[in-house]
Amino acid sequence: MKKLLFTFLMVIVISTPAHAKLNVCATLPWIGSLAADLGKDKVNIKVLVKPSQDPHFIEAKPSMILAARDADILMYNGLDLEIGYLPLLFESSRNSRIQPGQPGNFDCSRFVNVLEKQPTADRSMGDVHPLGNPHYHFSPSNVLRVARGMTQELSNIDPGNSSFYRTSLASFEERLRNKQTQWAKKSLKGKIFIAYHKYFEYMANEFGFKIVDYVEPKPGIPPSAGHIEKLIETIKKTKIDGLLVTPSYGKEEAEALSKKTGVRVIIIPQDVGSVPGTNDWFSFMDTVLSSLQ
Ligand SMILES: [Zn+2]
Repeated sequence: MKKLLFTFLMVIVISTPAHAKLNVCATLPWIGSLAADLGKDKVNIKVLVKPSQDPHFIEAKPSMILAARDADILMYNGLDLEIGYLPLLFESSRNSRIQPGQPGNFDCSRFVNVLEKQPTADRSMGDVHPLGNPHYHFSPSNVLRVARGMTQELSNIDPGNSSFYRTSLASFEERLRNKQTQWAKKSLKGKIFIAYHKYFEYMANEFGFKIVDYVEPKPGIPPSAGHIEKLIETIKKTKIDGLLVTPSYGKEEAEALSKKTGVRVIIIPQDVGSVPGTNDWFSFMDTVLSSLQ
C-alpha cells in the first residue's frame, strides 16, 4: 500500500511542471495583447470581451465567471468601462486573488494620465464615461505606462520569472520607439474630424489632429433630431476630413449622415482584432493611424 501511495505521489510530482504558467484574465483584447507581449510562454491568457463587441455594454456570462475563477491576475481597463460585469465577476468567481486591493487585481487605468476626468462620477442621462475618458489604448504614451506597470505586477506575482518579464518589456519599448518614429511621419497634424463617440481624444492630443464635434451629445447618449441638424450645418460650414466611427458603434447613423452631407465615413477598429490585420496592439495602431490619413 505504502509503495502504491509513493508511486501515486511520484506521478503527481512528475506531471506538475516546476513553474506552472500564470493564468491571466484580461477584459479587453488590447490588454490581452499587452499581457501576451510581456508574458509570452509564461502566461495563459483568457480575454473576456470579443473584438467585435462594443466594450461599453457587456454583460457577465457564466464562461466569464469561470475564467475569473481560475485567474491569478485579472487585468482590466478601469474608469468604469467594465461596470456592467466586473462587480459580478468579483463576487461570483469567489476568487480571493483578484479582489480589489489584492496583487491579482490590475486596473490598467492607474498608470494613465486620464483625459476629461470628472471630480465625481457622473452617470446622469446615461453618460458611459463617468470617471473620464476610458479609451486610452489609442495612446502610445499611456500604453507604454501600462506596459511598465504590468511588468511590475507580473514580476510581483511571479518573482521567479521577473527577469524574463523585464527583458520582454525592454523589447516592447524598443519596438515602440521604432514604431513611434514611423507613426510621427503620418501627416495627421491639422486634420479636422467629427466623431460619433469620444473614442479618439487621446490620439488627437498625441498626433495633433482636431475633433470639432460629436454625433453623440454625451458619450452613450443617442443624438436628437435637433442635434443632427446642427451637425449637418457644421459639416456644411467646415472642411471636415472625416466622420470617425468604429465597426460596432454608430456606423449606420454615420452612413446616414454621410448620405445627407457627403462627409467621408472612416471606420476605425475599436480594439485589437476588430478588423483583419490587427492581431496585436502594434498592428492595431498601424491600422488606426493609416485609416486617418
Ligand atoms: Zn466610450
